[in-house]
Amino acid sequence: MKTIEEKFNEAVRRGQKVYKSKSPEIQGYLKAVKEKVAIENKDIKPYITNPAYYVCDTCGAKGIDHPGTSYCFICNTDNFTRIND
Ligand SMILES: [Zn+2]
Repeated sequence: MKTIEEKFNEAVRRGQKVYKSKSPEIQGYLKAVKEKVAIENKDIKPYITNPAYYVCDTCGAKGIDHPGTSYCFICNTDNFTRIND
């Protein structure tokens, strides 16, 4: 039996649109992740990429990177999709 964390990480790894998940457990986990990351990043300025071009498939945020890791500033995953090519 997989934990919610494992299911979440698997969805991210597969590049799924986690924020559109119909699972209340996944949604709850995503909410908790975003709250944790918000605390971790509270003193950091995000790196703004063009919001028209990149969307985070984990949380749905557009064009906001962590300046150090380039991961999503909102949920700290690497699950960006380029859009509007
Ligand atoms: Zn995100």
